[in-house]
Amino acid sequence: MIKAHPTDEMLRAFAADQLPVPLAVGVAAHCELCAACRNRVHQHETELAAEAFDEPLPAAFDDAGMSDMLDQILASPAERVPAPPAAQGWIEVDGERIALPGVLARHHQPTWRQLGKVRHQGLAFGQAAIRASLLHIAAGGQIPEHTHRGYELTLLLSGSMQDGGVRYQRGDFIWRDASVVHTPHTAEGCLCYTVQDAPIHFTRGLPRLLNPLAHRLY
Ligand SMILES: [Zn+2]
Repeated sequence: MIKAHPTDEMLRAFAADQLPVPLAVGVAAHCELCAACRNRVHQHETELAAEAFDEPLPAAFDDAGMSDMLDQILASPAERVPAPPAAQGWIEVDGERIALPGVLARHHQPTWRQLGKVRHQGLAFGQAAIRASLLHIAAGGQIPEHTHRGYELTLLLSGSMQDGGVRYQRGDFIWRDASVVHTPHTAEGCLCYTVQDAPIHFTRGLPRLLNPLAHRLY
């Protein structure tokens, strides 16, 4: 069960095509895995279209209808907007073949950089200020304690990750900002899609020596 979702504000910005491409890719990939957010984006698109064309919204979109609609969405998430076809992409890493959401399958690279248990590949979306990556952490691996100077999106694509006492799984959309110091780790290994607008900053002990490398790690 997915625990972490984009905020409604972010889903609306996605529907309005206002997110930087790397974040839009993260939200699109999450929506391939999450029926509730897929439905919500569809709802935002309907609203935005009505605004753009200055048309009245369907009755279901007034305040009373909206709460009914949200109830329905939560009750039967898969009904409104069908799941995308199962034909996704695949990626091979560490001897494992992992299903990728279609939007990421179009972008991944064949080669990985490796640093200990961490493998990384940068994805080029033509936005130099924002880094998008696929990050694979082998079983038992962790990212040393660090914080961020900007934001960090982590979308779990396979396996699980333990962070701040919560175990995240495929589909979880985890948003961190500079206020968070954390040490994500994985018992079974995981593959993530990550987006950052500034390099991470290692905060403790020996890993601080990694700071010059941080921009390469992610
Ligand atoms: Zn969601």
